[in-house]
Amino acid sequence: MKLNFDFGKFTEFFKSNRFDIISWSVTALLVAALLGSTLWWTQSGSASPATRPEPTVSPNQNQQSVTLPPTSNNGSTDPSIERELQLKTNIPERPRFTAITYRVVRGDSMFGIAKQFDLKPESILYSNKDVLHDIPELAPGMELTIPPVDGLLYTWKDGDTIQKVAAEFKAQADDILNWPGNNIDLTDPKIEPGAVVMIPGGKRQLVDWTQFIPAYTRGSGSATSTLGQASCGGGPAGPPTTWPTNGPHTISGNDYGPSHQGIDITAPEGTPVLAAGNGVVVYAGWNNTGYGNVIMIDHGDGYVTVYAHLEQGSFLVKTCDGVFAGQQIASADSTGNSTGSHLHFEVRRFGQTLNPWALGLQ
Ligand SMILES: [Zn+2]
Repeated sequence: MKLNFDFGKFTEFFKSNRFDIISWSVTALLVAALLGSTLWWTQSGSASPATRPEPTVSPNQNQQSVTLPPTSNNGSTDPSIERELQLKTNIPERPRFTAITYRVVRGDSMFGIAKQFDLKPESILYSNKDVLHDIPELAPGMELTIPPVDGLLYTWKDGDTIQKVAAEFKAQADDILNWPGNNIDLTDPKIEPGAVVMIPGGKRQLVDWTQFIPAYTRGSGSATSTLGQASCGGGPAGPPTTWPTNGPHTISGNDYGPSHQGIDITAPEGTPVLAAGNGVVVYAGWNNTGYGNVIMIDHGDGYVTVYAHLEQGSFLVKTCDGVFAGQQIASADSTGNSTGSHLHFEVRRFGQTLNPWALGLQ
């Protein structure tokens, strides 16, 4: 009874409100579905965090624009990090372990090339005896072997040992063994005869320059040249006191040093070359060892001055002429092994070269 009543009432209620009931039910279902999916998304989100770094999404999105550092030829304003353009030679920026060949161009000097490759000038002389014969007078077109570091390149001979070679060139055996470019098997350190081996830090005696120009000896009848030349008579005498050019007294190529026994004075073609002191001309002519046209003056008391690369046909003096300090003897040029006009000037005393800068020339 009660059920029937209730059922009847319910049916009646349902009939009179069915659209409301259906719409509320649909709404409740939608809400439940939305809540359920939200809960599921939140849980799955926390289960696998989306914080993992991701690569660039696409070439067009989120791409950072990277500015390349400027080079010196496009307006860099910070000279401290500017890299100068190297027009002549490509110097490897990574350490170099093997020798390379460098072709001399006009204007080159031994000092300049050595500086360019971060080497001592002697290191270039050591490894180029066949080309330079220990004379650092360069000519365009010469091909120089540039060692990777200071020291010398040595062609291995039959019977050589690493200890023996190290001792000969005042180097360390370990430095030869461990030099990467030598590719020596440390478990069986053998070097084949004929192999060119880098001797890091190696040194050898350079040939004495003073023997290159055969000179007449200054007179007084007693001196006899070991080179068998005749002797001139006596003449004016006095140590070098004067610059051999009228300024600027600057270096155009090589300065005085162990690898260059004179100074290369700035002197454009035709610059008057002057006697550095009173004396007698003991040589005036061509020289085959790289000096080109040379004049040599004996000043007495063991002093001799040498003027090299002089202009062809410019000589104003001849052998055995007496000259006085400041007198023009020739003109500057670039004869012999030379990469541009300059005056190569040497001062010697009793066969040893002196540093011209130390003489206080006026
Ligand atoms: Zn020189």
